[in-house]
Amino acid sequence: MIRGYNEKLEFMARNDPLTGLMNRSAFNDSFNDYLHLSKRRDDPLSLIFFDIDNFKAINDTLGHQMGDHVLVQVSEILKTRLRCTDIIGRWGGEEFIIGLINTDQENAEVIAEALRSAFEEDPRLIHLSSIPITASFGIVTTRSGDTIDTLLTRVDAAMYKAKELGKNRVEKAE
Ligand code: GH3
Ligand code: MG
Ligand code: MG
Repeated sequence: MIRGYNEKLEFMARNDPLTGLMNRSAFNDSFNDYLHLSKRRDDPLSLIFFDIDNFKAINDTLGHQMGDHVLVQVSEILKTRLRCTDIIGRWGGEEFIIGLINTDQENAEVIAEALRSAFEEDPRLIHLSSIPITASFGIVTTRSGDTIDTLLTRVDAAMYKAKELGKNRVEKAE
């Protein structure tokens, strides 16, 4: 019983209660390990960061509970479409982050684009929300000297560029 209780505490400390995805701190820990490993092996490593478009309007129009259902369904799409070696986190509110192990920029772009269209076309999301559910994506790939902080800064800027250029699109980091 104590073991079960400790496991539950551990899960609560590292996972987002709504979606079950890694929380920000767990994602950072896990991604840092992969970053060190990828440097040692000289493997490419990429990040996708995305933010759901107009989510405030979705909440305001359909209610906060429906907003929660949308977040859960988005996380289900991520869990089913990504490889088990990829790491997925809920960064905050309606922002998600994905670490793509052994993936270069070209492949990261293909994966982000596949997710972008998966959200747009998902029958459950269409059923849940009369407002189209789309997201704006940034992608970044490691270069020498990168740390988790430099990568996050670049991928965040790329995501904002996708917003500025009209949302529901994928932009590469500088
Ligand atoms: P943009 O297209 O520029 O991203 O606009 P936006 O409306 O998505 O962005 P904004 O930051 O204005 O709104 C985000 C909203 O997400 C506001 C907040 O209430 C909502 N939100 C954050 N966390 C949750 C949650 O766990 N559940 C629900 N239902 N809503 C959430
Ligand atoms: Mg946001
Ligand atoms: Mg948003």
